[in-house]
Formats: sequence, structure tokens, C-alpha cells
Amino acid sequence: MRGVDPGSISDCAVCAKHIRFSAKLRPRQVIANVYEDGKWQRVEYFHEECYQIANAPYGNTQS
Ligand SMILES: [Zn+2]
Repeated sequence: MRGVDPGSISDCAVCAKHIRFSAKLRPRQVIANVYEDGKWQRVEYFHEECYQIANAPYGNTQS
């Protein structure tokens, strides 16, 4: 779990919408490093709320 950076160019893996920085709302995003067979494959990004809606597909988050 991370704060969204001002220069964020990530799209959410659930809703496919841009994860937008907002100084006012201070949104948070979930960043997941995805491993398959012990090998790193990719990074996926989620809106905090989308990750919850998707039932935390990669488990609980750490801040
Ligand atoms: Zn989303």
C-alpha cells in the first residue's frame, strides 16, 4: 500500500482506469509484485478500493 505519486502513470488492474494523484484526496494505491513459479513476472497496480472490491487477490496489504 502506497500513496499515489504526483507523476503516476499507472492503470488499475481491476477497473483499467488511470490511478490519479490528488493532493486533496490523498488517494492510496496497492502495488503488487506478481511472482509465478518463484519468478518475478510483473507489477500490477490497483486503486485501494478496487483491490478491496476484488477481494484482495494478492492477499492483505502492508503499508
Ligand atoms: Zn480501479
